[in-house]
Amino acid sequence: MNLESLPVASLPEMPEIWQQTFNWQPTNQQQEQLQQLYKLILEGNRQLNLTRITEPEEFWEKHLWDSLKGIAPKQQFIPFLNQNASVIDIGTGAGFPGVPISIIFLSCQVTLLDSTRKKINFIDTVLSNLSLTNAKTLVGRVEEIGQENKHRENYDLAVIRAVGSASACAEYSLPLVKKGGLAVIYRGSWTEEENQSLQNAVKQLGGRVELIEEFTTPLTNSIRHYLYLRKVKNTAFNFPRAVGVPTQRPL
Ligand code: SAM
Repeated sequence: MNLESLPVASLPEMPEIWQQTFNWQPTNQQQEQLQQLYKLILEGNRQLNLTRITEPEEFWEKHLWDSLKGIAPKQQFIPFLNQNASVIDIGTGAGFPGVPISIIFLSCQVTLLDSTRKKINFIDTVLSNLSLTNAKTLVGRVEEIGQENKHRENYDLAVIRAVGSASACAEYSLPLVKKGGLAVIYRGSWTEEENQSLQNAVKQLGGRVELIEEFTTPLTNSIRHYLYLRKVKNTAFNFPRAVGVPTQRPL
């Protein structure tokens, strides 16, 4: 049997939830691109360990809705989103949250960074299949990318999901963000202890914790937190520290 030709279930469309959460709905073309992304990920999963979230409703909620929820309702808060914002998704893996962001926010220029070449090759296939011209890929360790002139303090917005502790994510993301820009860290649970170390890390990195938002997801009522970090001054050149140090010796 040719596995490539197996039919793929349709994702739920959820027009009321899109409307309720974001006050808009994806266009037909965007719905098709999201469906195509789902299909490509299921196919890619046979060779690469891309995601364990494969059921249509779960994929819709935990990958698509969650990716967009982190930034979409914040258009006042992130006013540059519709003005050719440069966005970097750090440790994008199978493309989350960066690929849904590039599908929905066409005027953003999205860089999808991961240290694993195979995952980036997979995303290149996704971008070409979806004809997404506002996204590009980058292979490397963020600790090194964050020290390169081409990338350092070059992005309006950095997003980062499931790449490490909150203070490691702050150290990965804030050096890449322009002064005045924002880093959004996507988390599941959140504790006071984590809050303390995040506050301490962010101060050292030239940022400020602007908001911590807690909410539940619309289908399974799972708890999520988004941490919004504003860059208020340039990050000292010793950050990010060498590869591995942000996780081994968190700030
Ligand atoms: N962000 C995606 C998501 O939420 O589905 C993927 C999360 S996955 C658990 C973590 C990803 O971060 C992996 O693909 C890994 O290769 C990448 N990664 C981990 N450390 C990294 C680093 N220092 N620099 C760049 N990428 C990194």
